[in-house]
Amino acid sequence: MSTIFEKIISGKIASQVLYQDDACIVIRDIDPQAPEHFLVIPKKVIPRIGEAQLEDQSVLGHLLLTAANVAKAENLEDGFRIVINNGSNGGETVPHLHIHVLGGRQMQWPPG
Ligand code: AMP
Repeated sequence: MSTIFEKIISGKIASQVLYQDDACIVIRDIDPQAPEHFLVIPKKVIPRIGEAQLEDQSVLGHLLLTAANVAKAENLEDGFRIVINNGSNGGETVPHLHIHVLGGRQMQWPPG
């Protein structure tokens, strides 16, 4: 069964796309937890970071660089936070790897 992100990648479900290329898509989160909240999603289905393989190394690097580039394009020069939720204790709800990028307000530490 395909996840909501596969449906977004294939265009079956609409989303607000900030950027995409052959390897990833960047969309605004539908339930933003900060003034800026977007998701960097690999087009390859990797369920979660804990299941990524050595062969995924270059796409994982690409996701981080894309996160930083889109943060710059979104004028997050005051800072931003990157989050990856892994598994149920990690708060993961969609089993297709994605990087959250949050910004536009002061982040707190420790996170909840
Ligand atoms: P996680 O809880 O880390 O698995 O994150 C899943 C994220 O996907 C949540 O922040 C949701 O708000 C977001 N989300 C779920 N459905 C959509 C959608 N259709 N478009 C954009 N973001 C979504």
